[in-house]
Amino acid sequence: MHSGMNQPERGIIIGGGIIGMLIARELLRRELDVVVLDAGDGENTASTGNAGIIAPGHPPIAHPGLPARTLQLLLDHDSPLYIPPRPNPSLLRWLLGFRRSCNPRNYETAVEILNGLSRLSMEHWQDLAAQDVLSGHLESTGWVEACCEEATCQQAMNDLDLLHRDGFDAEFIDGDELRRRDPAFSRHVLGALAHPSDMLADPAGLLAALREDLVVRGALIRHRCRIDALLHDRRSGVIGVESSDGEIIEGNRAVIAAGIWSDRFARSHGLHIPMQAAKGYHVMVSMDAPPRTACVCRESMVGVNPCAGGLRLAGTLELSGINSRFIRRRLNMLRIGASRYIKGIRHAEVTSEWNGLRPCTADGLPVIGAVPGMEGAFIATGHGMMGVTLGPVTASIIGSLVEGQAPPIDIAPLDPARF
Ligand SMILES: Cc1cc2nc3c(=O)[nH]c(=O)nc-3n(C[C@H](O)[C@H](O)[C@H](O)COP(=O)(O)OP(=O)(O)OC[C@H]3O[C@@H](n4cnc5c(N)ncnc54)[C@H](O)[C@@H]3O)c2cc1C
Repeated sequence: MHSGMNQPERGIIIGGGIIGMLIARELLRRELDVVVLDAGDGENTASTGNAGIIAPGHPPIAHPGLPARTLQLLLDHDSPLYIPPRPNPSLLRWLLGFRRSCNPRNYETAVEILNGLSRLSMEHWQDLAAQDVLSGHLESTGWVEACCEEATCQQAMNDLDLLHRDGFDAEFIDGDELRRRDPAFSRHVLGALAHPSDMLADPAGLLAALREDLVVRGALIRHRCRIDALLHDRRSGVIGVESSDGEIIEGNRAVIAAGIWSDRFARSHGLHIPMQAAKGYHVMVSMDAPPRTACVCRESMVGVNPCAGGLRLAGTLELSGINSRFIRRRLNMLRIGASRYIKGIRHAEVTSEWNGLRPCTADGLPVIGAVPGMEGAFIATGHGMMGVTLGPVTASIIGSLVEGQAPPIDIAPLDPARF
C-alpha cells in the first residue's frame, strides 16, 4: 500500500457495465471508498442487452474448425460470425492472432483457463443469487443447447465428455424428452445438451439492481462522465482521473473496466491491448406460448432467453468496428435462426431491437491485471462472449490485486502485457 497513513483508500472504476459494477461491489466489500464513472447513461451497453446466459464451460470463439471457413466468413452476410472486409491493419493483426488461437493446442489451453475461471465465478454467482436485492434478476432454471442436425448432436455429446471432465453438470437429452419438458420446441430438434444448474439473468434488471445496491452501500455512481486520462505521479502512483470536461476526480486506485473502449483508453497509457468490437444484436419478441426454457440454437448460434418481460433472441458476431449501425439482414437472422427450433417464432411480433459491442481479444481470454508501470492502476476487459459469466471472478481477482493480495487463481494467462 502506498497511500499515506491518513488517506482513505479510494477506488475509481472507469466504466459501469457488468464488469465495473461487480468490481465496485467487491471493493466496497473490502471497505474501500468507491466511485464508478461511466461515459454513458447506464442503459445501452453490452451489459444491458446481452443474452443473459451464465454459461460456465462455454468454449471460446476461436475453435479449431474455424480457419478453413475464414473466406466464407468474410463474404457471408448470413454466417453467425461475419467479418465485412475492410482495409484495417489492426483488424488484420487481430485476425492473424485469432487464427493462431484456433490451433488445437491453443484452443485446449484457452478452454482449460476459461473453465477454471468460470467454475470459480459460478460459486460467486450462487452467493449473489442468494442476496434479496439481486435474486429477482437471476434464475437457476438452467438452459439447453438445442441441435437440429446429427453432426451437431455428435459434437454436443463430445462436449458433454469435456464438461464432465471439467466438473460441470450437464446431460444430453433427445428431442422428445426436450419437447416433453417444454412443448415450445419444434420437431426439428433432434437433441439437446442441457445445463440444468446454470443460471440466467435479466441483464438490464440485474445491472440496475446492482447499481441501486451499490448506492445503498455507499458507492458514488456518476453517469455521463467520460474519463480521458489516469493521473499519477512517480512517487505515489495513481492520484486520480481526469474527465473529458477537465474535472479531476481523486483516488489512489483506478480500474479500467470500459469494455471495448478500454483498448483506446489503455493505449494512451502505454498499454496495447488488441481487441475487436464484436457486435451482437437482440430483438425482443412477443408471442403466444413462448418457450419457458432458455436455449442456444446450436447451428444458428442464436440465444433465446425468456426475460425482461418478453422473449429475447440474441446473437451474431459482426466484426465491423466500433459503431452502433444496424444491418437489417443480421437482425432478421435472429428470428430466422431461432424459427427452426421454436414453434411460432418466425411470425412473432418484434417489440424492440438493440445492438451492442463485445470486447473480444484475439486469444479469447480476458485481460485482467495491473497496468504495468503505474502503481495502483488495474484493468479488467476483453470478456468477449462471457462477460456476465466471468464478472464475479474478475471482480474477485481485481479485489485481491487492489489490496496487494494473491489472486484466487493463476492470472498469468490474463496478463494485460501479454500481447
Ligand atoms: C448480443 C450479445 C449477447 C451476449 N450474451 C452473453 C451471455 O449470454 N452471457 C455472457 O456471459 N455474456 C454475454 N455477452 C457478453 C457480455 O455482454 C459482455 O462480455 C459484457 O457485457 C462486457 O461488459 P463490460 O462491463 O466489460 O463492458 P460494457 O458493458 O461495454 O460496459 C463498458 C462501460 O464503460 C463505459 N465507458 C466507455 N468508455 C468510457 C470512458 N472513457 N470513461 C467512462 N466510462 C466509459 C461505457 O459507457 C459502458 O457503460 C453478450 C454480448 C452481446 C453483445
